[in-house]
Amino acid sequence: MNKLSFKGIVLFLLVVLAACGTSNNEEQSEGTNGTDEKQTLSVVTEAGFMPFTYLDKGELVGFDIDLLAAVMEEAGYDYKLENVGWDAMLLSVEDGKADLAIAGITVNEDRKESYDFSSPYFESTHKVVFREGENITSGQDIKDLKVGVQAGTTGAEAVEKILGKNHEYISKYDSNTLALMSLQSGDVDAVVTDNVVADEYVANNPEANVEMITDPETFESEFYGIMFPKGSEVKADIDAALQTVIENGTYTEIYQEWFGAEPDLEALTQ
Ligand code: GLN
Repeated sequence: MNKLSFKGIVLFLLVVLAACGTSNNEEQSEGTNGTDEKQTLSVVTEAGFMPFTYLDKGELVGFDIDLLAAVMEEAGYDYKLENVGWDAMLLSVEDGKADLAIAGITVNEDRKESYDFSSPYFESTHKVVFREGENITSGQDIKDLKVGVQAGTTGAEAVEKILGKNHEYISKYDSNTLALMSLQSGDVDAVVTDNVVADEYVANNPEANVEMITDPETFESEFYGIMFPKGSEVKADIDAALQTVIENGTYTEIYQEWFGAEPDLEALTQ
């Protein structure tokens, strides 16, 4: 009889403990999934990539910045956006310190080994920007010239394919802006960068006396994606929101605002 009542008490206690456990869990899940409380994600960018991400009177602006805002609103996240520069941006995503990055980042096989990516949101290729008078009609014509690139970018890779890895004529800069400044100052003869960034630079700097060429034979087409740490838990939500924003016309509106043209949405689904 004594034994039975002891068992009874133990059972009773177990039931009480289990109940406590459940109510605790419920409280926790209310805390994170609660009705109005949005999770705040940490987003990093590199604001030297006009017109995708750049500073205008100290404010972060650009096509990517507007697209980010639309996607985060659709996905139901708050976010804190920081301009940390190219290398720090990649590192903080790789370490999982940042939840995502956006800055005209090309998706490629190499990067897929260290990061996850959204589906593509922009098609790009490279252009050669050079001082007027230089005889450059194809990508291969930069072979014997001093060429500036932004270190660690697909533009740098494209140039190394032509001149050779770490060739002495290749100058690697921390940002695209610095590479283009050294073209203007004569430190390099040409800069290879993403086509839309080249277009923007040439249009905004008529006094720089530069021209540019594109060469689909030499420079492949590539796609920008939002970058996440490997195994990101928010990637699926953000990817779904990006698709919605592309399908519901918001992407097209943002595209028209920045580029004054219709986007080729078909190209993004290939
Ligand atoms: N699209 C290029 C790359 O991903 C350059 C991006 C950038 O400089 N922000 O390498």
